[in-house]
This record gives sequence, structure tokens and C-alpha cells, in this order.
Amino acid sequence: MSEIRDNFLRVMERIEKAAQGAGRNPEEINLVAVSKTVESARIKEAIEAGVSILGENYVQEAQKKIDEIGRTVSWHFVGHLQSNKAKYAVRLFDMIHSLDSIPLAEELNRRAEKEGRTMNAMIEINLSGETTKFGAEEERAFDIARRVLNLSHLSLVGLMTMPPYFDDPRLSRPYYIRLRELKEKMIKEGIPLRELSMGMSNDFEIAIEEGATFVRVGTAIFGERKK
Ligand SMILES: *Cc1c(COP(=O)(O)O)cnc(C)c1O
Repeated sequence: MSEIRDNFLRVMERIEKAAQGAGRNPEEINLVAVSKTVESARIKEAIEAGVSILGENYVQEAQKKIDEIGRTVSWHFVGHLQSNKAKYAVRLFDMIHSLDSIPLAEELNRRAEKEGRTMNAMIEINLSGETTKFGAEEERAFDIARRVLNLSHLSLVGLMTMPPYFDDPRLSRPYYIRLRELKEKMIKEGIPLRELSMGMSNDFEIAIEEGATFVRVGTAIFGERKK
């Protein structure tokens, strides 16, 4: 059995166990296999094993892989998106996890309208205040969400976050709790949100316990990335 297949099956088992432990239905949780820097042949192994959503961080890299692999799977964008790449992003991806500003939302909307489609988007929230990280400040979430709701070719589906890296995954929990609470607060204020994109290789169980509906897992499926 291939290593990637093995890894994938182990991740699926971990998802199921975490969901059951939290009293959740494992089917509520979508696995995004984050394939940045991974070449197409190895991505295909993951698809053969059962991966159905791929996550990419760079538009050009994704373009090449989508040309090689095709669209039998769903492609999500999880990296930082620059407005000048919005045109390509709406052609390539089914979902953007990393919407983090009103100008980017407006540009995605304009490009999606031209392509005659609606783009699914999550707002990325930077909860750690680290200036090296992308994402909107928590205080901006409502403004961005209200603007997105008024854009005809964007569909707001949820919130995403990426905490600082901790060796001890339990230290991620407060960030995941905050994202869940922010979602609940926004829903109370009339902003319809379904999804929470949170949790990576080292802490996705914690994220599932706190309500994740998309986990973004790279290393645990494809192995360590080359630097
Ligand atoms: C690379 C990446 C991941 C996956 O990280 P792993 O630790 O390899 O699982 C998840 N989300 C984003 C936004 C990433 O850039």
C-alpha cells in the first residue's frame, strides 16, 4: 500500500474518532488535502485513495496542477490571495478560504460576475495579532461580511483561521473557541454562516472538538514539505 494512501486512511480515522468523541457526525467534517509543493503524481495517489478536495496556496502552481489533474476533484484556495490574481482564482477554485479585505471581495465579485459564476468564500480571521500572518482583524469581520452579503456573485459560507504554530496542539484550542464564538455572534446578528475552516496536521482533532467543518491537512497526508 502506498504511503500516501496509508496516511490518508489514518487521517480519516483520526477525523472520525475526534468527531465521535465530540458527539458530532463525522460526515459534517470535510478534509481539504493541502497539496502546496506536492507534485501532481503524488496528488493523484491521494485522489485514488479517496481525497476529494485539494487545497492550494499559490495560483500559478495550482493552475499547472489543475491542468494536469483535472476537475474530478474540488480545488480550494487556502493561501493569501492578491487582488491581481482574483481573475485566475475565480476560474480555478470552487472555494476561497482566505478572503480578508473588502477590496479583495469586490475584485473577486467583479471577476466572478464576468465569468458568470458565484464564488464561495470564507473570511480569514487573524486571531493571533501576528503581523506576519494574513487575515482580517476580528473587529473587521462584521464589516467585511456585510459587504460580501451585498455582492451578488460572492457567497459567504463561513470563517477560517490559522493560529500560530504550537508544538503542543492544545494551545490552539483558545483560537478555535474564539472563531466558533465569533461565528455564533455573527449568526445572532443576522449574518448567515455555516462553515468553520480550522485545524491542520498537528491540531485538527482539537479543531473538530471546537466545531471545524473543514480541516486543512498537508503534512499528515503528503509528508514533510521540502523547504
Ligand atoms: C500549508 C497549510 C496548511 C496545512 O498545514 P500542515 O501543517 O502541513 O497540515 C493548512 N492551511 C494553510 C492555510 C496552509 O498554508
